[in-house]
Amino acid sequence: MRSFDYTRAANVDDAIAARAQTNTVFLAGGTTLLDLMKLDVMRPARVVDIHKLALTQIDVLDDGRVRVGAMVSNTDLARHEVIRTRYPVLSQALLSGASTQLRNKATTAGNVMQRVRCGYFRDGVSACNKREPGSGCAAIAGNNRNVHAVLGGSDQCIAAHPSDMCVAMAAIGATVHVQGPNGARDIDFVDFHLLPGDTPWKEHALNDGEMITHVTLDAPLPHSRSAYLKLRDRASYQFALASSAVIVVLDGHTIRDARIALGGVGTKPWRAQHAETLLKGQPATLATFQQAAAAAMQGARSYGQNGFKIMLGQQAIVRNLSTLVA
Ligand SMILES: Cc1cc2nc3c(=O)[nH]c(=O)nc-3n(C[C@H](O)[C@H](O)[C@H](O)COP(=O)(O)OP(=O)(O)OC[C@H]3O[C@@H](n4cnc5c(N)ncnc54)[C@H](O)[C@@H]3O)c2cc1C
Ligand code: SF4
Repeated sequence: MRSFDYTRAANVDDAIAARAQTNTVFLAGGTTLLDLMKLDVMRPARVVDIHKLALTQIDVLDDGRVRVGAMVSNTDLARHEVIRTRYPVLSQALLSGASTQLRNKATTAGNVMQRVRCGYFRDGVSACNKREPGSGCAAIAGNNRNVHAVLGGSDQCIAAHPSDMCVAMAAIGATVHVQGPNGARDIDFVDFHLLPGDTPWKEHALNDGEMITHVTLDAPLPHSRSAYLKLRDRASYQFALASSAVIVVLDGHTIRDARIALGGVGTKPWRAQHAETLLKGQPATLATFQQAAAAAMQGARSYGQNGFKIMLGQQAIVRNLSTLVA
C-alpha cells in the first residue's frame, strides 16, 4: 500500500493551487482514479478532492447551448429534462455506460478524462508505452479483441477511447472550459482527446495543472432526431465493441444534415465527418447509409483479433441511421 496526501478543495482556485504541487491529481467521483491507484498503475503523491465543488449546474444559455458543470454526475446529466428532450443521443449514451452505482458517482469531467481499459495498461507489468514510455505495446500482437481500436492507432498504442458520453459529445459538438495556473481557456471538444502517435502517454490537451470546470454543448440542430447505439458482448455493464452517435435532420425523405461519431473503434471519440458529408442531400436509403458507413471506416486497420470491428463499426452506423429515419 502506498501512502498519499489527501486534500479537499473548497473552491476552484483552491483546487488549482493545491494541484500545483508535483505528482498531484484531482479526485472527482473516483471510479477511474481509485481503481488505478489500487492497481498501482497511477501513483499520485497527493490527491485533491474536487467532488464537492459547486460545479453541479446544468444551464441553458441564451444562444441555445447548454453548459454542464464538471461535477454533474453521469446520472443527473442523463436524467435532466433538457438533456433527455434536446439531446437524446447524450442521455442514451450515458445510460448505456457502466452501472447505476457507477453513474451516480462518475462526473462529467471524470468521464471526459477516464483512462483506457487496455488490460496490459491496467495489469501494471506488461509492456505498455502509455504506462511506461518506451516499453513497447503488448496489445498490438496480443489480446486486442475488445477494447482496442481499428482507427487512429499507431505503432506505439492502439487502445480505444472507452467513453460512451464522449462519443455523443463529439457528434453534438462541444467546448471544454478549463482553468489553470495561467487563467481560463476553451478547448474544442474534437481537439481535446489526442491521437496516440509517438506520445501515447499524452491523452488530452490539458496543460499541467489545468482543471475542467464546464463542458458546453452546441445548440441542437433544429428539427433533428438523434440516438446512440452501443454494440457489445453483453447487454449491460460492458464497454462498446463498436458504437455510434447519430444525429440527422430530414427534409421529407432527404437527409438535410447529419452528425456521426463512433465509439469502441477509435483511439479517441471518433467524429466521422467524411461520412456526414456523403449523407447530406442524399435520399435516406439503405444504400446511402451503407456508403456513408464504409466511408466512416475508411483507413481502419485490423490488429488481428479486433478486425471484426471494421464491419461492426459500419453496422453500428447503418442500424442506427435506419432506425432513426424509420
Ligand atoms: C466497472 C466499470 C465499468 C465501466 N463501464 C463504462 C462504460 O460502459 N462506458 C463508459 O463510458 N464508462 C464506463 N466506465 C468508466 C466511468 O464512466 C468512468 O470511470 C467515470 O466516468 C470517471 O468519472 P469520475 O468522476 O469517477 O472520475 P475520477 O476517477 O475521479 O477521475 C478520472 C480522471 O479524471 C481526472 N479528473 C477528474 N475530474 C477532473 C477535472 N475536473 N479536471 C481535470 N481532471 C479531472 C482525475 O484526476 C483522473 O485522472 C466504467 C467504469 C468501471 C469502473
Ligand atoms: S494499447 Fe496502449 S495502453 Fe494498451 S499496451 Fe499498448 S500502449 Fe499500453
